[in-house]
Amino acid sequence: MARENVQPTVLVVDDEATNIEVLAKLLQPDHRVLFTTDPSKAMNLAEMKGPDLILLDVIMPNMDGYEVCRRLKSRASTRDIPVIFVTAMGEEQFEAIGFEAGGVDYITKPVKPFLLRARVKTHIDLKRQSDLLRRLASLDGLTGIPNRRSLDEFLRQEWHRGLRHESRLSAMLIDVDFFKKFNDVQGHQAGDVCLRQIAEALSRTLERKTDLVARYGGEEFACILPETPLQGAVHTAEKIKQAVASLAIPHPQSDVADIVTLSMGVISVTPKRGHEPEEILAAADQFLYMAKLSGRNQIQSGLHAWEAETAANA
Ligand code: GH3
Ligand code: MG
Ligand code: MG
Repeated sequence: MARENVQPTVLVVDDEATNIEVLAKLLQPDHRVLFTTDPSKAMNLAEMKGPDLILLDVIMPNMDGYEVCRRLKSRASTRDIPVIFVTAMGEEQFEAIGFEAGGVDYITKPVKPFLLRARVKTHIDLKRQSDLLRRLASLDGLTGIPNRRSLDEFLRQEWHRGLRHESRLSAMLIDVDFFKKFNDVQGHQAGDVCLRQIAEALSRTLERKTDLVARYGGEEFACILPETPLQGAVHTAEKIKQAVASLAIPHPQSDVADIVTLSMGVISVTPKRGHEPEEILAAADQFLYMAKLSGRNQIQSGLHAWEAETAANA
């Protein structure tokens, strides 16, 4: 989504409604202004609405602005939202506390309109630039889908969620068959186009918002399917295999078909303490290897060895 073109949202937190009114008047109509007079609601609002910037009063009943800021900075979902303190206290020692709490700037009341607008603009521009960089750094340059780094991060996150909820986690490694020959004969450029088409087919096939498809490296892709049992993951793998077959990309040099085909390894586990998330990919790789050995253009799947043992002993 091109967030750059969307009107920026500013959350104003101040226990006095008149202060909010003043700030809102100065920021509208160029900004969408959300507000609360209750500091204990600031966290929730920030998390739900994901504003581009927060203007935070310092002295409020129950919870002061510094504490609100510390809490915002302690959570991954709100950490990157810039916080500007707006307060009547101009003393330097208080400003230092604000910066230590994680604020990016400080504006004193009474607020000078041009100063407020200029600083708000500066920090929103900076935030959008760093958001864009972060997004680019998480995507694969050739195919535009998430890269290996995103995959590792997502897998770790889902592994820990699985540990907490004892839910199943499935993963899939996908490798294009005889792709070296494809490149050798049809050229590297055609190879790149082929990889893009496959990435697109994968993204299209994984319709669940909670699933992740990533480029694992070279001509290999990976899918992580949270809260999905083995049967469901294999079903998805079959749909992917079908989707890529439907692309009907000619590959006369392949030994298994006259079009581009995939080999896949599918694994399902219930995350377990004492194990590492990487083990799930290593296990998927074993099944992928079996798929290659067994003639390619196929899916091999199973449980992780530690679960297969438990099942056998039960
Ligand atoms: P197998 O069926 O055993 O997987 O054989 P393969 O030829 O696909 O496997 P191998 O690992 O020998 O070769 C992978 C090839 O993928 C090597 C390289 O030419 C190609 N490849 C890897 N990354 C890219 C890329 O970004 N673009 C293009 N065009 N080709 C790539
Ligand atoms: Mg390979
Ligand atoms: Mg290959």
